[in-house]
Amino acid sequence: MEHHETHETRETDETHEKKFFFRVFRANVSWLSWLAVAAAALSVAVLSQAPPLPNVLLITIDTVRADRIGAYGYAKAATPVMDRLAREGVRFADATTQAPLTGPAHAALLTGLYPARLGVRDNATTPVPDSATTAAELFKARGYRTGGFVGAFILTAPYGFAQGFDTFDADFPGFSDGIKLQVQRRGDAVVDAAVKWLEAGSTQPFFGWVHLYDAHAPYDAPAPFAARFKSSPYDGEVAFIDACIGRLVAALEQSGRLDRTLIAVVADHGESLGEHGEAEHGMFLYESVLHIPWIMRLPGRARAGTIVSGQVRTIDVLPTLAAIAGLPMPRVDGESVAGLIEGKTRRDAPASFAETYYPKWHYGWSELKSVRDDRWKFIDAPKQELYDLRADPAERRNMAADRSTLAAGMGGELGKIDAGFGAAASTEAPKPDADTLARLRSLGYVGMTASSTAGRRGPDPKDMIASAETFRIGISRAMDALANDRPATAIEQLKRLLAIDERSYEVHLFLGDAYTATRQFDNALAEYAAARLMNPRSAAPLLSSARAYLAQGDTARALQQAELAAGIEPGSGDIGIVRGQIHERAGRTAEAIADYSAAVRANGSDPQARARLASLAMRTRQFDIARLQFETLLRMGYRPSRMHFGLAQIAEASGDPQRAILEYREAIRLEPSFADAKTALTRLGG
Ligand SMILES: [Zn+2]
Repeated sequence: MEHHETHETRETDETHEKKFFFRVFRANVSWLSWLAVAAAALSVAVLSQAPPLPNVLLITIDTVRADRIGAYGYAKAATPVMDRLAREGVRFADATTQAPLTGPAHAALLTGLYPARLGVRDNATTPVPDSATTAAELFKARGYRTGGFVGAFILTAPYGFAQGFDTFDADFPGFSDGIKLQVQRRGDAVVDAAVKWLEAGSTQPFFGWVHLYDAHAPYDAPAPFAARFKSSPYDGEVAFIDACIGRLVAALEQSGRLDRTLIAVVADHGESLGEHGEAEHGMFLYESVLHIPWIMRLPGRARAGTIVSGQVRTIDVLPTLAAIAGLPMPRVDGESVAGLIEGKTRRDAPASFAETYYPKWHYGWSELKSVRDDRWKFIDAPKQELYDLRADPAERRNMAADRSTLAAGMGGELGKIDAGFGAAASTEAPKPDADTLARLRSLGYVGMTASSTAGRRGPDPKDMIASAETFRIGISRAMDALANDRPATAIEQLKRLLAIDERSYEVHLFLGDAYTATRQFDNALAEYAAARLMNPRSAAPLLSSARAYLAQGDTARALQQAELAAGIEPGSGDIGIVRGQIHERAGRTAEAIADYSAAVRANGSDPQARARLASLAMRTRQFDIARLQFETLLRMGYRPSRMHFGLAQIAEASGDPQRAILEYREAIRLEPSFADAKTALTRLGG
């Protein structure tokens, strides 16, 4: 009996290996015959009863695990809207993503191409290239009205995600004195903008993309979800997202367009929630992050209740939407799975490749790559892994040694896919500027170490994850302490991290900032020098040194450091601001105005540069320059009472007391305790 079972397993295994090699061959063939495949997809009769050119609404839900949604069997879920969409539509039970990071995964979702082929292998660095045809471009070319609404800066225009959208809405709040970083917004704000756009609709068909970022850490859903999910805050975020999707569905329902719309809800990646030692995502390629929900409600409720069990991929999403809408697709890595919805079966699912360069580029450890089919997953790591996903969905038993032939075969296939990505697939760490780094850090993406392991593989992330988590939590605590004026606590915390990894660029940089905050400038400068040694390509340590010298009143040394920083990042707005401060301090007003103006040109959405320019222009009575900045900042929502006060002062100085009175009144209305404005108003007799 035992012997018989073993024999059977072996046979299955061999068959499986044969199937695998067959698939490698087939992948090449289907690539060449793509046009034929596309033509076949167009004839798919999924929508035979629906009118031509249905509306398409793609909702991407960031960081949502499939197994936390009711339709996927989670008993504690509060996801009635997604459950309804699955009931009235199609649910893909085994959908898998190409990358555990927002930028690369969305690049795949919106182009049908592997992220590596686009060169998009990390967040907020290399943009989706103009040469790629995005979903919005595809639909726009067929006369669709297109609108994109995103919840995180990682998916904005500088990173190529606005391509093809008539309307692209990425209006992040967060202007206050301390908060300069505009990085994300809540789902209700995203949906407000999207609903407004939907309601302004014409008879033209639309393609809408709505991105909901809320399930990303920290898990702090708004009321009433926070209270309802006190013991499982992540579920609270998923429930909140579901409610946001509900508002979009309701908007379509109320305008009678629900049954003329194809709604697709798909996650970019999941969240580890402690599995395999990882709290969030990015470091590993386990199912906790690769297995994603993908639910579609087809026009006219076609194929309601269908569950597709075969493996489908994020690169298949766009070809599938295009096929159902009846649009021709350029050739891409993914393929339409509309046939599976109709009940057609495939001999075997095409392999799904996934990768993460996050451990390499942020920690100097090895990158990971994986290839997956309906049953097996192979992970190419310094210590290779092979999992039988059917028998071991939690990926606890590494079969790489027991099934070495299968592991080698899958490794070979992985190598073939990986070798075919072309010139864009650079393995050089991209070099985000200081401002982008700060934004990424504020979302919890820390790291960015020296590229000391370039060309080498570096340690296996699974051997390093425990220290990585300690490191990440430590950094975030230190950042909290710094932001809340507790620099001594930050110093203590950061020194502890240095004991774990004294080569961390980031720890040295933050420790420098903490010393600067306590005015221990010599210590600060030493830490910045250490950070520079760890990462000579970064301008941030030089810029911080410039700030430290400036704080001591040494404008000559400060300027020297700022010029060195400018040599690394010539177009940086932050460097422009610091140079302007140095010149201002040294009494060189014209130079300071020029530097602040350059900073405004470099990053028009940064209120700091505009506020400094306006303030210096006021002091030097250059009212035209100041007025333009006050008006722009007012439109940006930056400290409105203070902007009205500035406009009032300009009006008063230009001999227009009536206008000044109106502006002072507005300032006081917005900030009733604004003493200077009250004094001025009294002076004018208003
Ligand atoms: Zn994401």
